Amino acid sequence: MATITATINGKKKSAPVRGMMDNVMEQFNSAADHIELHPNIKKILSITNNELIVHFPVKMDNGEVEIFTGYRVQHNNALGPYKGGLRYHPTVDIDAARALAMWMTWKTSLAGLPYGGAKGGIKIDPSLYSQGELERITRRFTFALADNIGPEHDIPAPDVNTNSQTMAWMADTYMSTRPPAERTANQHVVTGKPDGSGGLEGRDRATGYGVFLTIKFWAERNKQSLVGKRFIVQGFGNVGYWASYFLEKEGAKLVAVQDAFGSIRNASGIKVEDLFNYTKANNGSVKGFPESFDLDHEKFFTTECDICIPAALGNQITKENASKIKAEVIAEGANGPTNVEGEKILLDRGITIIPDILCNSGGVIGSYFEWLQNRNGELWQLDEVMVKLEKKMKESFDKVYAYSESEAMDFRTAAYCIAIKRIEKAYIQRGIFP
Ligand code: GLU
Repeated sequence: MATITATINGKKKSAPVRGMMDNVMEQFNSAADHIELHPNIKKILSITNNELIVHFPVKMDNGEVEIFTGYRVQHNNALGPYKGGLRYHPTVDIDAARALAMWMTWKTSLAGLPYGGAKGGIKIDPSLYSQGELERITRRFTFALADNIGPEHDIPAPDVNTNSQTMAWMADTYMSTRPPAERTANQHVVTGKPDGSGGLEGRDRATGYGVFLTIKFWAERNKQSLVGKRFIVQGFGNVGYWASYFLEKEGAKLVAVQDAFGSIRNASGIKVEDLFNYTKANNGSVKGFPESFDLDHEKFFTTECDICIPAALGNQITKENASKIKAEVIAEGANGPTNVEGEKILLDRGITIIPDILCNSGGVIGSYFEWLQNRNGELWQLDEVMVKLEKKMKESFDKVYAYSESEAMDFRTAAYCIAIKRIEKAYIQRGIFP
């Protein structure tokens, strides 16, 4: 665990800080112990295969050159090409990229996809750059990644603060730098593209729809209806918005939202579409939404509700706030939003956690459909996509539910056990080269 040092009353004090790697490793170790994972395979899965850090120059609008730092960590590819998003955020560093890459390995394995896990991004606050600068940054980053990505090798996708436009620039840059005869055949080097450029209809809503579906499946198992259920959402980006959209459609009520700029609440309900339209006219922020009251930042997780959806960044639910959460179920739209200490408190309180690697797997499942569509030269219809997505999410949910019942364990450990066992099987069948 990393330590942080501060000077308090003239004395230097050090305290351990939990990084994302601490969380993913503790989660992995407890599942690995449970299934008695072979020690050699445990060694392999405890480290990342490849780690790339690139520094690249980009000309800014004012003519000056700025140097950026980008990351791509490839954790494991036993089941297929590396797969996972790229985020643009000040918190991106090697520790975050490693942890997020590991989560992708478990996520793709659990979903039964022919993929491994990777993650990366640029340490940057994208709100400080113009659209033209972001385009040049993205293209230069893609160029710097060079042959470390590829449609059958490592396939990036959107993540925090990246979107279909980012993927269109990446695909175009990658294809433009291939030999002429290979250009168009490389479209599936990234997924999450716009639907006019090889993207999948419905990929935009796939993650949020998947989050909604896991909540619906959970409610069905508990013989509950979602009508009238109150939910709170942290993060009103792609995942938070679409999860809210589908929950509201099912009769549930959005009662509080938090984003990077502020928190709002309204116990009688916040209209999802009105809030979405407001954020579009308000620099993407929910702050100041007229039909709501301002909420203190730290009060957000204490809001009275039935369902809590953290759909922003990691390490949001911790020992500081886990005892105050009122929800009956937590649906992890984000990656790693609950740390191990926070999780222990929630489980002791009997709160159900639908873990990230299951809950938000609709995104990468949608990516897989897009990849297949490109590879086979097909165009899938939205209704077809939604039906296939629901089928895959249901299979994963049922597997995790059954395993957690039979082994009397929480959903996260069950999901990890299933995911790790699939990778273990591949290693046992193939052996270790040479
Ligand atoms: N960034 C998303 C995730 O964390 C999607 C990754 C992908 O589609 O490859 O699951």
